Amino acid sequence: MSATSTDSGSLDATAGIPADLLIGGEWVAAASGRPRIAVENPADGEVLAEIADADVADALAALDAAAAAQAGWAATPARERCELLRSAFERLRAERERFATIISLEMGKPLREARAEVDYGAEFLRWYAEEGVRLQGDYRISPDGGSRILVKPQPIGPCLLITPWNFPLAMATRKIAPALAAGCTAILKPATLTPLASLAFAQLLVEVGVPAGVLGILTTSGAGALSSALLADGRIRKVSFTGSTEVGRRLIAASGEKVVATSMELGGNAPFLVFADADLEAAVDGALVAKMRNMGEACTAANRFLVADPVADEFARLLSARIAALRVGPGTDEASEVGPLIDAESRDRVAGLVAAAADDGATVHVGGAPLSGPGYFFEPTVLEGVDPTGPLLGDEIFGPVAPIVRFGSDEEAIELANDTEYGLVSYAYTRDLERALRVADALEAGMVAINRGLVSNAAAPFGGIKQSGLGREGGREGIEDYLDLKYVALDL
Ligand code: NAP
Repeated sequence: MSATSTDSGSLDATAGIPADLLIGGEWVAAASGRPRIAVENPADGEVLAEIADADVADALAALDAAAAAQAGWAATPARERCELLRSAFERLRAERERFATIISLEMGKPLREARAEVDYGAEFLRWYAEEGVRLQGDYRISPDGGSRILVKPQPIGPCLLITPWNFPLAMATRKIAPALAAGCTAILKPATLTPLASLAFAQLLVEVGVPAGVLGILTTSGAGALSSALLADGRIRKVSFTGSTEVGRRLIAASGEKVVATSMELGGNAPFLVFADADLEAAVDGALVAKMRNMGEACTAANRFLVADPVADEFARLLSARIAALRVGPGTDEASEVGPLIDAESRDRVAGLVAAAADDGATVHVGGAPLSGPGYFFEPTVLEGVDPTGPLLGDEIFGPVAPIVRFGSDEEAIELANDTEYGLVSYAYTRDLERALRVADALEAGMVAINRGLVSNAAAPFGGIKQSGLGREGGREGIEDYLDLKYVALDL
């Protein structure tokens, strides 16, 4: 397969996206004077934009602006703050096609999935525009009858928000919306590989009237140095990170010195269980979503298909047929169902995992190899008979590769499913309600999907346990991560 190059119609979507840093309400060049960073289209390697490379001085300037804006933003009536989020929601919906094209160009996902990301990302703005005006305090009477206890939520303070490349818009709105609704100012550090949707969204927030300093945005080749400087300063009171477990661990450690609150949405190794009583057609539909959405580059991607012995052959046959029929191509081609991986390193890593599994005796039913360029495409792949202790089952694959593992009993399925340091999401297909509930209880995961291949929902508390994270995003709970409680002891 060869990918066509970016067409000029798609490129119109990136015209006018600011390529500088947003500090104190102004778009400014990096003080460092360092060369700009090229942002590439992973479908053809073409340069889409050249963005600023912030250094520590820029980061501290953004923090000065965020700290200066904090008191005024916290004192702004919640209704006013939330109306701005609502306006941003309306604008994002109106510009759905433009944002979808930007996401598809910089990240590679098919347009239909990029549109779904815009919808999902916009939903956080609407949801927190609604939640932000319903924050509740409490008035209690002390058991001794003598005093009153007032409990009030208040914004935690300036936040550092760090996002990954795989959902360039939705991971940003999932943090910005609750932070701003709660009355916090924030600095966003988007992924260097895919900063354009975040930059365009930051511009949209400026245009709808979010005051200067309330949101800053920093692009940089020095994420570690910048975040260390910001966390060591003491004025950042919260870091909310979505990305790899490895970087999450470092940020948790760096947050210790100034006792900065952390929310961590980290990696996953999701098991997808198919029991013998499952509706196999539905399970295959769900498997396609859980595995192939985002080319498998999702923390929630099904990483291991655990299938009951009596239905394993049929499941493998049905899944292989559907995966073999997927159309691979540039995300911006309307017909594409699977786009490129994010870069050459990712494609080569996935190729290495598959080749090693095949060398160790796995049977490749479909796919199994990289596709010729331009772009970083990998064949959608199904394989079986994988070494249970090998890296294909132990690591996050982050690619369009579906390994099938057979199990005998429910107990064995649960044991295999939980045999990982991660605990983000697990999927299970069964028609037996009693089994569904028993399995949901036993799975070690922050989220369990029963007879569904997708859990993402702005109204639900998204997050992991074990080494998949701390805290929740979305739902009622998502805004609590940006609030402190103040207790006032009151004698009348
Ligand atoms: P990553 O390498 O951890 O990077 C994530 C973000 O952290 C990027 O903005 C990156 O900046 C920045 N970063 C890198 N090193 C840093 C450091 N030392 N200090 C502070 N920030 C640093 O992850 P990724 O490759 O972008 O994303 C894939 C990972 O994210 C996967 O593990 C996936 O499971 C996880 N993820 C989790 C969720 C969830 O909700 N649980 C959702 C999506 C993705 P640069 O871009 O400049 O390197």
